Amino acid sequence: MSDLLLTDVRVWGAGDAPRDVAVRGGRIAAIGSGLPADGAEVFDGTGCLIIPGLVDAHAHIDKTLWGTPWHPHQAGPTLIDKIENERRVLKTLGLSAEVQSARLLRHMVARGTTHVRTHVDIGPDIGLAHFHGIQAMRDSHRDWIDVEIVAFPQTGVMIKPGTLELLEQAVREGAEAIGGLDPVGVDRDPKGQLDGIFAIADRHGCGVDIHLHDRGDLGAVTIDMIVERTRALGLKGKVVISHAFCLGMVEPARLDGLVDDLLDQDIAIMTHAPSGPTPFPPVRLLHDRGVRLLSGSDGVRDTWGPLNTGDMLERAFLLAYRSGFRDDSSLEVALRMATYGGAQTMGVTDYGVTVGSAADLVMVEAETAAEAVAFHPMRRLVLKRGQVVARDGRSLLPVAA
Ligand SMILES: [Zn+2]
Repeated sequence: MSDLLLTDVRVWGAGDAPRDVAVRGGRIAAIGSGLPADGAEVFDGTGCLIIPGLVDAHAHIDKTLWGTPWHPHQAGPTLIDKIENERRVLKTLGLSAEVQSARLLRHMVARGTTHVRTHVDIGPDIGLAHFHGIQAMRDSHRDWIDVEIVAFPQTGVMIKPGTLELLEQAVREGAEAIGGLDPVGVDRDPKGQLDGIFAIADRHGCGVDIHLHDRGDLGAVTIDMIVERTRALGLKGKVVISHAFCLGMVEPARLDGLVDDLLDQDIAIMTHAPSGPTPFPPVRLLHDRGVRLLSGSDGVRDTWGPLNTGDMLERAFLLAYRSGFRDDSSLEVALRMATYGGAQTMGVTDYGVTVGSAADLVMVEAETAAEAVAFHPMRRLVLKRGQVVARDGRSLLPVAA
């Protein structure tokens, strides 16, 4: 691993003055001006901005169609339509989760993503095949990107007997968190699904990350039930609710109470700023109240829709766009969700552009973080633990099979 000296860069959060960033042994060794090269490879940053590696904290990389011919969207409008369509298409195409995820990761790295938390499908129809594929890919890519796995019951839990046992097996085999899916809307048995999932988290000490698309009061009551179980089992700080559309729909007084509970149990909220008229959480309000927020691509180029691109800087733009953000501090909230928020949820402790942190860094052609979000421009350089993994928008990873 060669040492690097990035010269004439701006550091997010450290003012406008040009600085140098020295990288040694995979870590940030110094930040200052006029730092000596000391034999390191020098990279002229020409005034670009340095941000920490982007964190895609909610992806589904096991079932992307990346690298295959364009797939026109065919699913019906409901969640169940999309689930059934996906099972049909994936079965027909016979793709490998290991190969597909590697294809997509290569692209994500080019866009500056250094950490991915991916929900991996597990169910009676496919067993642990996707999970094992992602584990193999994670092992072969560990020098390039960090991957965390959420064991995800895409086809439901209580309506698909055997799913809970498979989820627990995945946790035994190393999944960092257990997922859930619309305990009411999909299973019509919120107590059954939540008790089952939380019992597994309790037995193994893993995290919990529940997809909650159920809207309005149905979603709000589900959050109440998640809070109850988090509190009862002492899982404070280990639970994420993904999507949580209902937070963008309930009355202000109800929202206020839900936020109190989220804060009390340090439950994080993930939103990817869904497209169209879909309601989504009030990001700025939640941020200002102190709720932990994170974001992710969700499915990229898959049977769920064609518009997600796997670019977390663009995702921050979309969060800002749908939230109606204009001022710099709000645009930075969106970027924090795509960086620090996800890193914290993944338990990454040596993260950030500070001396001693892992050199997981992205050089962006922008003056400020707000400009980086607004224009999500070219990533000139991407470092993973000090190693250059992408340059000028192109990944340097070996081409996947
Ligand atoms: Zn998802």
